[in-house]
Amino acid sequence: MLKNWAVVPTCLPIVRRRCHACASQRLRASGKFRVNANHKLLDVWLLALCTACGETAKLTVLERMTVRSIPPELLDRLHANDPGLTAELLQDPAVQHQNRFALDWTDAWRLDTGGSDHLDLDVIDVAVRNAARIPVRPTRLIAEGCGVSRGEVDRLIAEGKIVSAFRLSGKLSGDFTFTLKR
Ligand SMILES: [Zn+2]
Repeated sequence: MLKNWAVVPTCLPIVRRRCHACASQRLRASGKFRVNANHKLLDVWLLALCTACGETAKLTVLERMTVRSIPPELLDRLHANDPGLTAELLQDPAVQHQNRFALDWTDAWRLDTGGSDHLDLDVIDVAVRNAARIPVRPTRLIAEGCGVSRGEVDRLIAEGKIVSAFRLSGKLSGDFTFTLKR
């Protein structure tokens, strides 16, 4: 039986970047964008607030772009301070790289297993979808989803009762699959 699990964001992750005003390394996206027009060129920033002192940091989204080169739909979302757009941009590797930040997803996601009706099955194939590319420990996820301890998961892997084409030790930040045979 194939089960689909999902790693689902429950709130925006913390932006890990040093605050300019204090020693804090934690910023929280404000959900607001700043759009600045200058001779038909647009600069767009995503505003974030230091969790310690409240100082505003500007994360570059677009730099010196002509208005025509920006999809109208994107402009609408920027002007509407679209919350979904904030989430997308924070997860965009290009935005992360340009602004030199990483994301801290601690306490910002949950595992959705679609119910616990699989717990008594002898064999299950599980496809785990992780669209937001949140770094997770597969063994922790499997333990939570199957209602067993992390030690039990380690034992099942060692005994070949949990098999996967993916490396289940350490962390993964993408989709993965595994099979559990009890
Ligand atoms: Zn600060």
